[in-house]
Amino acid sequence: MKLISIVVPMYNEEKVVPLFFAEINKVLEKIKQYQFEIVVVNDGSKDQTLSLLKAQQSLQKNLVIVNLSRNFGHEPAVAAGIKTAKGDAIIPMDADLQDPPSLIQALLAKFEAGFEVVNAKRKGRHEDTFFKRFSAIKFYQFVAKLSGKIKIPQNVGHFRLISRRVADEVNRLSERNRVFRIEVPFVGFKTTEVLFDRPKRAAGETHYNLKSMLKLAVDAIASTTSVPLVWPVQIFIFILILFGLSAITQIILFFTLSLSEVVMVSWLVGNLILFLFSLLFFVLSILSLYLSRVFIETQNRPFYIIDEVIVGRS
Ligand code: UDP
Ligand code: MG
Repeated sequence: MKLISIVVPMYNEEKVVPLFFAEINKVLEKIKQYQFEIVVVNDGSKDQTLSLLKAQQSLQKNLVIVNLSRNFGHEPAVAAGIKTAKGDAIIPMDADLQDPPSLIQALLAKFEAGFEVVNAKRKGRHEDTFFKRFSAIKFYQFVAKLSGKIKIPQNVGHFRLISRRVADEVNRLSERNRVFRIEVPFVGFKTTEVLFDRPKRAAGETHYNLKSMLKLAVDAIASTTSVPLVWPVQIFIFILILFGLSAITQIILFFTLSLSEVVMVSWLVGNLILFLFSLLFFVLSILSLYLSRVFIETQNRPFYIIDEVIVGRS
C-alpha cells in the first residue's frame, strides 16, 4: 500500500488545530487504498499548538510532529516537513483549511494517472482584498517574464501533490533561500493541475502582512533568476546610444549652424555627463555580469535533472 504524507506547517494555530484534525481525518478515513501520515511542523508556536498536537498524537499514531527550535517562517517549515516526510507522494497544505482536504482525493487521482506534480490552482481570488489580487497578478506576470524556461504556474501556493522523486530533487536543492512554489517548477517532471475555490481561514488570523509578502516576492525573484543583474548592461547601452546621438548632433550643428557659445558649452557639459554615466554603467555591467555568475554558482542548482534514460533493446 502506498504511503501518502500530508505536510502541514503550524505557527500559533491553537484555534485551528481541532478544526484541522476533524476535517482531515474525516477526508482520509474515506480513502481506503492508501496509508497516510500527517507531518505537522510546529514552527516555534508561542501558544498551545504544540501541547494540542501532542494530545492529538496520543489519539492518532500516524501523526508525526516536527518541532522546530524557534519560528523560522512558512517556507523553512514546509522544507523541514518535506524532508521528514516518508511518503510515496507528499501533499503540503496550510493548517487553516484554506487548502481544503476534500481536494486530496482529486490530487491522488491525478497521481495515479501518472502525474508527478499535481498543482492545486485557485479558480479566482474573490476572497482576497483588491490589493492582494492586484499585486498577485502583477507579481506572477513579472516572475513569468523573468523566469525563462521555468514555467511558474499562477495562483498556486504550497498546496499540491509531489511524487517521491520530485520531493527528493527539492530536498537536494542546496540554496538557503527556499521558495517552494519556484523550486517545484524548476525540478520539472510531468505536471498537471486541479482547480479549487479557496475558502476563508477557518479560524485565527493570517501571518502574512505587506512586509512578509514583499519579502516573499523578492525571495521568489532572487531565487528564480539573475536577469535583474543584466539591467545595468541595458542601461549602459541605452546611455551610450543617447551619448552617441547627442554628440553626433552637436558636431553636425557645430559645422552647419552657428549656435551661441553658451548653448554649445552647456551641450558639451551635457554630453560629458552622458559619457561619464555610460562609463559608470559599463563598470557596473562588468561587476554585475560576474556577480550573476557567482549567484548561479553559489545557488548550485543541478543544471539538468533526468526523468529516465531509455535504452534500445539489442
Ligand atoms: N506559518 C508558519 N510559520 C510562519 C507563518 C505561517 O508555519 O512563520 C504557517 C501557518 O500556520 C499556516 C501557513 O503557514 O499553516 C499559511 O499561513 P497563513 O494562513 O497565515 O497565510 P495566508 O493563507 O494568509 O497566506
Ligand atoms: Mg491561510
